[in-house]
Amino acid sequence: MSRHRRGLALLVAVSLALAGCTADRRPGAGSRSTPTSSPSPTPGPAGVGDPYFPTAGNSGYDVDRYTLRVRYDPATDELRGTTTVRATATAELPLFHLDLAGLTVRRVTVDGTPARHAREGAELVVTPAAPVRAGAVFTVEVGYDGRPVPLRNETIGEGGWLHTADGAVALGQPESASTWFPVNDHPSDKATYDVEITVPQGLVAVANGVPQGQRPAAGGWTTWRWSEATPMASYLSTVVIGKYRTTTGEHRGRPVFSAVASSLPRGAADASVARTLEVADHLESIFGRYPFGAYGGVVVDEPRIRYALETQSRPVYSANFFRAGENTGVVAHELAHQWFGDSITVARWEDIWLNEGLATYAEWLWAEHQGGDTTQAAFDQEYVSSDDQLWRVPPGAPGVANLFSSSVYQRGAMTVHALRVTVGDDAFFRILRTWVAEKRNGNATTAEFVATAERVSGQQLDDLFAAWLYGTERPPTPTRAG
Ligand SMILES: [Zn+2]
Repeated sequence: MSRHRRGLALLVAVSLALAGCTADRRPGAGSRSTPTSSPSPTPGPAGVGDPYFPTAGNSGYDVDRYTLRVRYDPATDELRGTTTVRATATAELPLFHLDLAGLTVRRVTVDGTPARHAREGAELVVTPAAPVRAGAVFTVEVGYDGRPVPLRNETIGEGGWLHTADGAVALGQPESASTWFPVNDHPSDKATYDVEITVPQGLVAVANGVPQGQRPAAGGWTTWRWSEATPMASYLSTVVIGKYRTTTGEHRGRPVFSAVASSLPRGAADASVARTLEVADHLESIFGRYPFGAYGGVVVDEPRIRYALETQSRPVYSANFFRAGENTGVVAHELAHQWFGDSITVARWEDIWLNEGLATYAEWLWAEHQGGDTTQAAFDQEYVSSDDQLWRVPPGAPGVANLFSSSVYQRGAMTVHALRVTVGDDAFFRILRTWVAEKRNGNATTAEFVATAERVSGQQLDDLFAAWLYGTERPPTPTRAG
């Protein structure tokens, strides 16, 4: 995620609101998701045990593939969906949970047999006719409809599925997916996606991955089809519906699909997104092969969205980033996330600096490549910052309230640079490329990053990371080890 500076205060507030929505779901905070009313408390209760968001996601199964069929009418804000979830049971499941906020569930089947279902706040609790055996691959189909309800804080912001002037935008971190489909909504359970979105003729409907074309649907509507064949975390899924001017093409054998809201004048937004391929190629030369099967970007003109998010293979940008002119810094940030965040995904939200520190550092690398400040100059400027939060909040353990704080971004990037200074350029870039190659399409933790850095560099780096990631005061300036 990138925060637009002019929208920073609001964005931080939005982040807190989203975090707050989730935090409210902790057991004991209300009846929304506590599994105590279920006939059998184990296995399969809500929550994968993320220390920051204990009830986010669900245990007892591992999703392999989502097949989403969604029909949306912007005139009425009515969504009708059928979601098919193919998963492997990791325990015997007399019942299991999916995350689904709002909407009305009409039917649920498990392996084709009708299943009992109940709602507990933002949880859909499914009780199959017979328990799913541990290790079994099973398929859940859920039919549902209604008006999507954004994840909302009345005073400060919204996320998830938002009804816009001419369509909708589904976007948000750390959660958004559960506002439009039943999902195991935690980044530790990545899956592939096959998405069909049916909208009134004349509207564009964009999602992640490779475009699979359009076909006419009943009533003169159009179905847009998308496929993300590389595992994706649910918060990286997106749908954007509305009037957009689109650009298609091919680059290095992969399709390109970008879209800019038609309400925006042609100019900086188009020009910035058009440089996606150039930026991606530069980052590829540093980090290794671009990790996905498609390229693109979407610029939305929606006042409630004042940030950019690294939605997989096709980041979504607030138009605010481009109001002052061309801006490839934000493009570099979101594209760097394709490696750091999307291909390598945090296993728990506490480690978010692995995403934001590296993406911010990539912005520094891109600026230097463009003839701007060197990475050392960027580090030096931040190092003298008197921003108390930067030094007081440890980026490696920021806490829920500081998940998107300047420490996670700027001090996260400074941590990356401190590593570079300490081990030298050769080892530093080998560390990054090794990390990318070894963790591709998976999940990772800070401890694993530290272990990789130590293994590749042959140096003991505990003290460096302890000070930069977990200290609560400004660390000493880094110096070359040895
Ligand atoms: Zn980011």
